[in-house]
Amino acid sequence: MTATTFQVEIAREAVEECAAAVENGEPGAQADLERAQALLEKYLGGVVIEDTKNVAAEHDPNRKRPEGGKIHRNQYGVCRVRTVSDKQARFIQNLIDTRVIPATGGEQVALAAFRQGTLNLRHASDLIEWLLLLPKNEKADQPRLASEKALGFLRSLVESQNVAALSEADQAKVEHVRNGAHPTAKDTSDLIDALKRVGKKPVEMVQHRSGKMVAKSEVEDGIYRKDDVVYKVQYNLAGTNLYAKRLVLDEEGNGSWEYAGGVRKVGLTPEHKMTLEQAKEFGALYGTCVACGRRLTNEESIEAGIGPVCASKF
Ligand SMILES: [Zn+2]
Repeated sequence: MTATTFQVEIAREAVEECAAAVENGEPGAQADLERAQALLEKYLGGVVIEDTKNVAAEHDPNRKRPEGGKIHRNQYGVCRVRTVSDKQARFIQNLIDTRVIPATGGEQVALAAFRQGTLNLRHASDLIEWLLLLPKNEKADQPRLASEKALGFLRSLVESQNVAALSEADQAKVEHVRNGAHPTAKDTSDLIDALKRVGKKPVEMVQHRSGKMVAKSEVEDGIYRKDDVVYKVQYNLAGTNLYAKRLVLDEEGNGSWEYAGGVRKVGLTPEHKMTLEQAKEFGALYGTCVACGRRLTNEESIEAGIGPVCASKF
């Protein structure tokens, strides 16, 4: 088997891509990863010849290099040294975890650099090559646990998708996840597929005070605060949609409301809703009623941090 360095490069990139896809819990990614790894191992197990085009590019001082990384000067001029990306670091860590690593010889220097977080891309490929050819340890055959990212995606699907339409077995798995279980990568990927198949949770309808039936939103009308900005969330005239206005204070502390957009766009969630206590604190701090934006003038209101009418709305 003879492969060029370019082929090896492509196979290596494919492995990285697939490893990332597995991290993301994409369906079928594990099989793709194994194929890409097998291909790369086959290349590296045979004769690898230098790809002349690649070598020429590598030595071209005018060659554009990707941005980022430390400036580095060598005999070819100035370039940026890129350290490994998070994705590559995860891939290398997985190899380290699943191979029998000898105490001496081979790419010990690169391995040490990796552990210190200073490994650059060039040495990363040497390290990966070396690791791929090492024998697998017993951990390699154990099912891998889902990454935090995949688990996070699964949790978001559990919230948004129609869990009730899953099979009983899958519903039980969802229950485990809700109770804080950490499933394997395979189970997570399967469950993500199943949740995608059943579609979104049906929209719950509620009667708005205008009498109309509207989609139940987790966010209700009221006063919110997010990233130090105060928002008033209210229904549109038709009573079908919630939108947010932003409180803007002038130099004297007189407030006005500026259209900010839909609740989703602004990113408001129930935990951003202000309590009466928080409204009072705001009023005491700025001398402005947080609910209506008016300057507090009445002595009692200044004391309370909020006007009596507005306080009754909380
Ligand atoms: Zn007020």
